Amino acid sequence: MLTRRQCFGRGAILAAATTVLLTVPARAQETRLKVIASFSILGDFVRNVGGDRVAVRDLVGPNGNAHVFEPSPADAKAVADASLVFVNGLGFEGWLDRLVKASGTKAAIVVATKGIKPRAGAGDRDHDHDKVDPHAWQSVANAKIYVANVRDALIAADPAGKAAYEANASAYLAKLDALDQEVRATIDRVPPERRRVVTSHNAFGYFGEAYDVVFTAPQGVSTEAETSARDVAAIISQIRKEKVAAVFLENVTDPRLVRQIAAETSAKIGGTLYSDALTDAKGDATSYIDLIRHNVRELADALGA
Ligand SMILES: [Zn+2]
Repeated sequence: MLTRRQCFGRGAILAAATTVLLTVPARAQETRLKVIASFSILGDFVRNVGGDRVAVRDLVGPNGNAHVFEPSPADAKAVADASLVFVNGLGFEGWLDRLVKASGTKAAIVVATKGIKPRAGAGDRDHDHDKVDPHAWQSVANAKIYVANVRDALIAADPAGKAAYEANASAYLAKLDALDQEVRATIDRVPPERRRVVTSHNAFGYFGEAYDVVFTAPQGVSTEAETSARDVAAIISQIRKEKVAAVFLENVTDPRLVRQIAAETSAKIGGTLYSDALTDAKGDATSYIDLIRHNVRELADALGA
């Protein structure tokens, strides 16, 4: 049972909390730089560098598939109101040009992969020969280039924040250096002949190149094209021939194809890899660093590190 005094105490705290909620964020909102990130992983880079000077909106949110995204009128409005729009580029956001045009925005469009050496999307699937692989963030060394590009663009748009952006970026870059070491140390424990895995779409080419793991996928570097029966048959015979240890599901693609492949071969399902998006708060990858840690842990567990 509450005494009068306790009731009063609670009421006063509630009133104080309400005042804070109503005033502080409202004032901060007005002065923060409005920026857009095309997808959640890039949004995480921008938040880390921008800190409390920026208000970031992600177009493709957690667990979303940017390859097949359809922007809403609210997205167009947000793009119109933004000072900067950060995009991945490399053909990742096929819907972007139309959105930018429809919004009439004056925002600078910043391609965060500028300076990254693109991988050809070829792999061994025919329909990807003319495509570039957009999933550059899957190598931590590349993530550092994204972060430097984000830092430079924020400084150009908001020179008063230069010191803050530089400090935030260098603190975050140090974390990425440590992450890169962690990934190498973990993958080093997997025998090289076991480092062969299948995922549903070809999103891990940069990771594979950086850390010496061979990834194959029935779907190409985008998820737009249908997978043909021939592609699936080719993957199945490849798994048998090369003794692929595990096949993985992804958080942004349909799991049925990978389950079918696992059922027809002796490969086990290794778990879920996070390819093109962070997870929502219920998942264990609400940040890029956690995403990479999760993927590496899943790989190491399935491949027997
Ligand atoms: Zn993808």
